[in-house]
Amino acid sequence: MSEPTPLAGPDLEQGVAEADLKEGASLLGHARGESVLLVRTEGEVFAVGASCSHYGGPLGEGAIVGKTVTCPWHHACFDLQSGAVQRAPALNAIACYQIERSGARIRVGPKLPAEMPPRISGAPGRIVIVGAGAAGHHAAETLRRRGYDGALDLIGRDLDAPYDRPNLSKDFLAGTASEDWIPLRPDSFYAENSINLITGAPVDRLDLGSRQVVLGNGKQFAFDRLLLATGADPVPLPVPGATAPHVHLLRTLADCRRLIAACATARNVVLIGSGFIGLEAAAALRTRGMNVAVVSPDAAPLGKVLGDEVGAFLRHLHEEHGVVFHLGESVTAIEADAVVTASGRRVPADLVLVAIGVRPAVGLASAAGLAVDRGISVDAYLETSAPGVFAAGDVARFPDPRSGRSIRVEHWTVAQNMGATAADNMLGGRRKFTTVPFFWSVHYDVTLSYVGHAETPANVSIDGRLEDRDCRIRYNEDGAMRAVLTIGRDRENLNAERQLELAAAT
Ligand code: FAD
Repeated sequence: MSEPTPLAGPDLEQGVAEADLKEGASLLGHARGESVLLVRTEGEVFAVGASCSHYGGPLGEGAIVGKTVTCPWHHACFDLQSGAVQRAPALNAIACYQIERSGARIRVGPKLPAEMPPRISGAPGRIVIVGAGAAGHHAAETLRRRGYDGALDLIGRDLDAPYDRPNLSKDFLAGTASEDWIPLRPDSFYAENSINLITGAPVDRLDLGSRQVVLGNGKQFAFDRLLLATGADPVPLPVPGATAPHVHLLRTLADCRRLIAACATARNVVLIGSGFIGLEAAAALRTRGMNVAVVSPDAAPLGKVLGDEVGAFLRHLHEEHGVVFHLGESVTAIEADAVVTASGRRVPADLVLVAIGVRPAVGLASAAGLAVDRGISVDAYLETSAPGVFAAGDVARFPDPRSGRSIRVEHWTVAQNMGATAADNMLGGRRKFTTVPFFWSVHYDVTLSYVGHAETPANVSIDGRLEDRDCRIRYNEDGAMRAVLTIGRDRENLNAERQLELAAAT
């Protein structure tokens, strides 16, 4: 999140010399009090809003590929001709401005009207989406953006309307972002867009024969196309004391509100697990001034995912901020005032957060007889083993066009982008899901940006120094680059994304 980009560069209403804008380059300026980016690409000149509509990232520092611009912060991508979102996490288009020419000068004219959704024909009559998280919400928005005007039910178990889940272990948990930041859309958005959002409604069963979704209360929803976007559920810890009231899990906004409320009376918090959520929560809870300890059987935090070097860096970073690690330790019991480990250590705790990973929520799909293999199995078009039934997000296992393996990925933007692809395909498209996975993770003032997908961090090469917070780490598998992690080098992360995109295309 950031303030809007301050006005900088030339006044583009006055114009710039055409020759100053080189092919493939952009120029940051302003027009009518707003930051505007002028871009020349593929022989044409475009003028668009200069800030990403997600968290306000500087598009002038992004990548221009074909007629698109990608934000350096979280890789949202926009079409330069229409301003439309091409890739998540952005939800809103950016503004486009008219280009005016006089002699050898280009000027930015008035804002162009927003594009209206196209009219489509032959679309299914009823679409039901189960799960109103990243994938489900993005699919619903995409359907309407594509001009789908049939019945659309978005059914979620959560009591809250769709929200920014990644923020629950970052600014919102730290108390530095208010709850107004959390909903993805105002409540009125769903009715205005004829999206029948039903919250607090766990789906109990799918009847694929009669093409009905059945809620716990017996209510039925007929569908022609169905999207399963049920996400993943936190894995509980199977030890005595794990269901005590001071022991928490973190997946939903309700979980996060409970955790924040518990911080009011607790002092010593123990995080069980040293994965992304555990570590981000450690940083957020230190910001709240809590005493924070992390207990984990791993040798280094996130070492198994990002490699030993990154693990050692993260450990040091968190220790500098006062987090105490008990690594190589598994938990055997949780007591009222301590977490007990296998070595007999008692780590003082009046608040415990269990963050030991998630499991894909495949229950509905398995019971309905869909093919399930550590996630709902889908093809390259995100269709399950039942025609017309699609799956997207954390719950879906899909073919990775780069490695040729089937993978399941637990990232926010991946879930959203899968939701968009599934939406296109539910409308009869045949679009393969080939988007390069991307995620970010925030620890105090350090942001890790990871693009691609490597199964293990076995073959790692580092350029730069982690301690300087200025580095690029390549993860290779089968002799090919599979993923890149950067700190302080957003531009290189975008370049790596492009390389991985091209690798899938060949
Ligand atoms: P979800 O967003 O979990 O949505 C699934 C929805 O389905 C849920 O609302 C659930 O209630 C509903 N549902 C499940 N079963 C049923 C049922 N039977 N009936 C009705 N509804 C049902 N990723 C990143 O890339 N970067 C980050 O920084 C990051 N931070 C995170 C921080 C936290 C605290 C958490 C929990 C996750 C974070 N993630 C992050 C992961 C990211 O949020 C997930 O990858 C993403 O939300 C997956 O989207 P999804 O739609 O598949 O699942």
